[in-house]
Amino acid sequence: MNVATILKAKGRSVTTARPDHTLQDVAGKLAARKIGAVVVVGENGAVDGIISERDVIRAIAERGVAALDMPASRFMTRDVVTCSETSLVDETMEMMTSGRFRHLPVVEDGALVGIISIGDVVKNHVATVEMEVSAMRSYLATG
Ligand code: AMP
Repeated sequence: MNVATILKAKGRSVTTARPDHTLQDVAGKLAARKIGAVVVVGENGAVDGIISERDVIRAIAERGVAALDMPASRFMTRDVVTCSETSLVDETMEMMTSGRFRHLPVVEDGALVGIISIGDVVKNHVATVEMEVSAMRSYLATG
């Protein structure tokens, strides 16, 4: 199973922000779309960074409410780990577990084409396990 399978089910839309958008803008997007992270893209559409709810909390803890008027670029993670549509779902689970983050932008030829979260991966994993259990049960019943 690869990332393209997950994108087919959930769609390819990605919520993005510009580096100069304020943390308030980012927090507003996270709340309005009920999501955990926003991908920060530059003018050329390339991934510049990622900013998650955890970064917003850290920014406010360190700077107080003044952080909300500061640019996203100040708080985003710049060294973004990405995957491609052909990445295996098991590989992405390993990337998120070892990197201790829950979001993985999907990039093809330098262009952002989707995002998957740990929730998408777990959902896919549970569906796969359920299918295997059901196949095993019918095999045993007819066996
Ligand atoms: P999350 O678990 O996604 O809320 O993110 C936890 C921390 O990891 C935050 O500081 C994020 O900016 C950072 N982060 C999230 N996703 C990625 C990623 N794909 N690559 C690198 N850092 C990330």
